[in-house]
Amino acid sequence: MSGGALGFDLIVVGGGSGGLAAAFRAAQHGARVALLEPGEFGGTCVNLGCVPKKAMWLAADLVGRIGMAHGLGLPVAPVAVDWPTLVASRQGYIANIHASYRRRLDEAGVVTLPVRGRLAGGGVVECADGARLRAPHILLATGGRPQRPDIPGAGLGLDSDDFFAFTAAPARVAVIGGGYIGVELASLLQSLGSQVEMFVRGARLLSGFDDEVTARLQANLHQDGIALHFGYRLAALEKAGEGVRLREQGGDAGNPFDAVIFATGRAAHTAGLGLEEAGVAIGKDGHVVVDAFQDTSAEGVHAVGDVTGRLALTPVAIAEARRLMDRLFGGQPGARVDHDNVATVVFSHPPLGKVGLTEAEARARFGADVTVHCTTFRPMLHALADVQRHSMFKLVCTGPDERVVGLHLVGEAADEILQGFAVAVKMGATLADLHDTMAIHPTSAEEIVLLR
Ligand code: FAD
Repeated sequence: MSGGALGFDLIVVGGGSGGLAAAFRAAQHGARVALLEPGEFGGTCVNLGCVPKKAMWLAADLVGRIGMAHGLGLPVAPVAVDWPTLVASRQGYIANIHASYRRRLDEAGVVTLPVRGRLAGGGVVECADGARLRAPHILLATGGRPQRPDIPGAGLGLDSDDFFAFTAAPARVAVIGGGYIGVELASLLQSLGSQVEMFVRGARLLSGFDDEVTARLQANLHQDGIALHFGYRLAALEKAGEGVRLREQGGDAGNPFDAVIFATGRAAHTAGLGLEEAGVAIGKDGHVVVDAFQDTSAEGVHAVGDVTGRLALTPVAIAEARRLMDRLFGGQPGARVDHDNVATVVFSHPPLGKVGLTEAEARARFGADVTVHCTTFRPMLHALADVQRHSMFKLVCTGPDERVVGLHLVGEAADEILQGFAVAVKMGATLADLHDTMAIHPTSAEEIVLLR
């Protein structure tokens, strides 16, 4: 005890992907750890992100495959999704994850407190129940939350958190925003029974992903019946009977939707954290500013994951947390994350993934010294079922030895194919290395080592 505060080596504020990883790794190194989490363990990823999303994606994927079965001599009647069963299975799976975290935290000797925390300065964290904890190291891992545009009627809309409370597919859905969460929700809902329209401010979906590969995905989404509206300036949401109408800037209001979902970005979850009083610098977009070692501007205060506004991905939050704990408690002074060549997948139908630079980014960095190898093909399943859905695989290379600096995939199994190739890209593989690798035939993945 010191100054009436309970003493630890580390206080973790937030029990999501980053916070849990930090607590486990620090405890493994022998640190005395307190973990504050007012909600369910697992944070966004387990409760309102990756995990429930992937469960819905798997169901949607099966719907698509069942739809193709007749082409292979399996005359399965079209299926109607039983949402209550799907949601119950999903939540049962998540409950098992919660139980596993609880058990592992107890085994690791981590002290858990089901409350919010705020920085009180001088290495002290004040809990919402009035308790005060002290430690030489405090980790902020409070994540992010969905944000909505500041327009009239915004409260009539929903966000990704609300999507996970759905127990049925709304008949007509408008998704506002063309980032990865918007694309994923639109794609899921269309497959699971809704009629979806996407309204996007820019001229394309998925800025930050490769132009050509994204255009291929857009064609696939369009073919699946999703209406895509680009250059759309939303002015307001208006009540229309039981539904909600969109009003465009300088334009008319359209037909009503049963649900309007905002996928218009996420903001760092820093409200009430006491950052300014504790001297923690905040970026202009509200994120906690950290250096390459996850240190904030305040002595002994660190941050990882979405609250830092870098790559908002679970494996990144986990890696940042583990490296930081290795540095603070594991005797590895240089431990830090390399944020280059992080592979990422958009769970659309079909999935789209990338590692490294887009063609445009590579040309901006390497000028004329860039070569591109691209293939478009129909996977065997789609050809057999006579479905006009094409995959596109694209390599971006540079230098005389054509080192691979970017790989972009859209199509069947892209999500599973990308991981192994991400290792090769990270290791500096060249086009010749890919050509030296024997193809696995017949697969979609072989198209990458056969690219000329
Ligand atoms: P979080 O997991 O958000 O955890 C933060 C925790 O802090 C929360 O539990 C919160 O309750 C707690 N907290 C907040 N304030 C306080 C406080 N004052 N005191 C104590 N606790 C507090 N990433 C992927 O890698 N793959 C995916 O497929 C993927 N899909 C996604 C789909 C959706 C719809 C969304 C929204 C996100 C998705 N993500 C995905 C991103 C991923 O969920 C996040 O990058 C990840 O959860 C970040 O982890 P974190 O520890 O930074 O924050």
